[in-house]
Amino acid sequence: MAQPYRIVMLGPPGAGKGTQSVLLSKRLGVPHISTGEILRAESEKSTPLGARVKPILASGDLVSDDLIIEVFEARIAQDDCQGGFVLDGFPRTVAQAKALDELLSKLNKRLSHVVELKVPESVLLERIQRRGATGSGRSDDNAAIAARRLQVYWELTAPVTGFYREKGTVVEVQGLGSVEEVQNTLLASIVGQSR
Ligand code: AMP
Repeated sequence: MAQPYRIVMLGPPGAGKGTQSVLLSKRLGVPHISTGEILRAESEKSTPLGARVKPILASGDLVSDDLIIEVFEARIAQDDCQGGFVLDGFPRTVAQAKALDELLSKLNKRLSHVVELKVPESVLLERIQRRGATGSGRSDDNAAIAARRLQVYWELTAPVTGFYREKGTVVEVQGLGSVEEVQNTLLASIVGQSR
C-alpha cells in the first residue's frame, strides 16, 4: 500500500516554495507546515518564543537548530499530521534534516518525496525584492535582508539538497512559469513517482 504523502519542499527564498507548497497541500489533502509561518504567528502574538525570535526573523538569519526542531516536533506530533504533510521551510540545515530523519524513523515513518524547486539566482533577488515593494507585510523582505536570506540559503540550506540526494531521489521541478504551470508540473512529478 502506498504510504502517505510526506513531502519536503526545498528551494531558495523567492523560488515560489510557499505558494506552491500551499497549493500542493490542498491538492493532496495534507496539511501545509511552514516553520516560518509558525514563528511569525508567535512573533505577532508576542509570546515568549515570539519575542525571542522576532529580531532573528527581521535579520534574515536562521533561528537555532535546537529551537526550531522543538517547534517542529510539537507541530508534527499533532493529529492532522498523521496522514502526511508538506514541509515548507524545514529542514533548513543538515542538522535539522538529520533530526527529522531520526524523528521519523523513531515513529517508523519516512518521507515520500523530497522536491527541489529550481529558479535562476537572478530571478530570485528580483522576486523577493518585488515581494517587499508590494508590501507583503514581511519585515524581512527589503533588499539587504533579501540578499542576506539568499546568502544564508547558499551557506546553510543548499547542502540539505545534497544530503537528501545521497540518500535517494530528489525530484527537481523548474519554478519558472505561471503559478498554475509550476503547480501542474509539481503535482505530475509527485503523483508520477512511487512512494
Ligand atoms: P520562511 O517563511 O520559511 O522564509 O521563514 C522566515 C524566517 O523564519 C527565516 O528567515 C528564519 O529566520 C526563520 N525560520 C523558518 N524556518 C526555519 C528553520 N527551519 N530553521 C531556522 N530558522 C527558520
